[in-house]
Amino acid sequence: MSSEFDLIQQYFSKPTHHTVLGVGDDAALVSAAAGMQLAISTDMLVAGTHFFNDAAPYGIGWKALAVNVSDMAAMGAQPKWATLAIALPEVIEPWLAEFSRGFFACADTFNVDLIGGDTTRANNKNGLTISVQIMGEVPSGQALKRSGAQAGDDIWVSGELGSAALGLAHLQGKIVLKNELDFCLNALHTPTPRTTLGLALRDIATSCIDISDGLLADLGHILKASNCGATLNLEKIPCNDYFKLDLSNTELQKMLLAGGDDYELCFTASKAKRDEIISLSKQLNLPISIIGSTHADIDLQVDYRNNKVELIKQGFDHFA
Ligand code: ADP
Ligand code: MG
Repeated sequence: MSSEFDLIQQYFSKPTHHTVLGVGDDAALVSAAAGMQLAISTDMLVAGTHFFNDAAPYGIGWKALAVNVSDMAAMGAQPKWATLAIALPEVIEPWLAEFSRGFFACADTFNVDLIGGDTTRANNKNGLTISVQIMGEVPSGQALKRSGAQAGDDIWVSGELGSAALGLAHLQGKIVLKNELDFCLNALHTPTPRTTLGLALRDIATSCIDISDGLLADLGHILKASNCGATLNLEKIPCNDYFKLDLSNTELQKMLLAGGDDYELCFTASKAKRDEIISLSKQLNLPISIIGSTHADIDLQVDYRNNKVELIKQGFDHFA
């Protein structure tokens, strides 16, 4: 049987591109460029909470890093380095091989070096836990934040929302997807963080967040930090075609507004930036849509065909 060090060597040591000293010593060494700040974030994935115990390991590996890359995108930071702490109930090498393949596929796509971590045994058979810390660079003072939205700003989102929530609902047996199934499962298991958009928004957006817990919950964070409110138009929210069957259905509304796992960016910008954002959307070949606007009153309202949408539960809160 492989030792812990053999496992690290085989599955978690890959050549790096912008690292002084990577896996293998007591700490990694990196050099931050002059004039840059480090953006640092951690996201943990727990079996049974963030993925099913029997989920395909490739997707778990991809997503463990992708959700962290998405946090860099939201800050307008260039992701560069990551560490990976993993608690494994048992060593199943084919599982580790696939996990590692997914993790490094994401690392290669977004040019992130894995520079260290920790590998330990979980003491319960469902205890698989994966914690990734990511570090990125942003020119000093230019990071995008949740605060900064001004009353009267447009509210934008990238891509389409709701596909991951549909995929999850399918796996939970709540709905049956047919044509959309592959697309929605891909959205759920191998999300695409919007790094290029995040970098471009540094000069454009007044605030930004990535949508991980659902549009309403995450936009709510922007509104709270920026001390303003918003009105959204449900029919303007870019969404998977499945929702267009019946947007008046409250279950579908809930999935679209509070579903989560989208990893799209939601940001605010002055109306004067519209043309710039539209040309950015063309340049990136990525839809970016205005879904509403901010206002001075501290409330969040969603309209659908000129009626208010009932906001049953604003997103997913792990401790609610
Ligand atoms: P120490 O006992 O000094 O903390 P470890 O034996 O835990 O060191 O780890 C040895 C080396 O392997 C370290 O450089 C550590 O960062 C790296 N490492 C351990 N686990 C992982 C992992 N899952 N992914 C990447 N690097 C890892
Ligand atoms: Mg250690």
